[in-house]
Amino acid sequence: MPKAERALVLATGNAGKVRELSALLADSAWQVRPQSDFGVSEVEETGLSFVENALLKARNAAQQTGLPAIADDSGLVCDALDGAPGIYSARYAGPGASDAANVQKLLAALAGVPAGARRCRFVSVMVYLAHAADPCPLIAQGRWEGRVATAARGDGGFGYDPVFLVGDGGDTAAELDPARKNALSHRGQALRALVAQIRAADAGA
Ligand code: IMP
Repeated sequence: MPKAERALVLATGNAGKVRELSALLADSAWQVRPQSDFGVSEVEETGLSFVENALLKARNAAQQTGLPAIADDSGLVCDALDGAPGIYSARYAGPGASDAANVQKLLAALAGVPAGARRCRFVSVMVYLAHAADPCPLIAQGRWEGRVATAARGDGGFGYDPVFLVGDGGDTAAELDPARKNALSHRGQALRALVAQIRAADAGA
């Protein structure tokens, strides 16, 4: 595990992600602080892939705080939409779109698509930078398979959770309790893999 009480900045302004990542790192020796604690301004996500955008976000937070940074770039990838909304998940219905607007646009895009063709997955690419100029970022990926529901259901989580049917089951991600979601989710998978890499890098240092 990382050495005791090292501060680490979470490079996200998304309250849902901060909640989930803080819970996942609660038992670690990191002192985890969201970038909002430092007034970090958001960087423009100009990359064309999850990994490019995750690197941009982590580097921006590390640069502005002088601390090691973890960033996640994530989204929903739908087979019937050639991978959309993908890296544009947060802004699918336009810049600054609400979760509800994004969900409505997704349901409209998939109107009439039969259950068997509604396969999708949440993807998270998680990046750790020891400092802003770190030439060896640690990178991990998580994928959570499911199907897009035909209507929203559940109050938990955030984003597309109310229309994400978990695996082949009938529950949406918004109907899972937070610990269950973290155990299964793309973000949980990616963060556990990333922490293992940080631990291995620390052991070799
Ligand atoms: P990012 O902040 O640019 O990585 O955008 C992530 C977007 O993907 C979020 O705003 C959500 O729309 C969607 N997303 C990512 N992870 C989840 C999740 O766990 N549940 C629901 N939506 C998610």
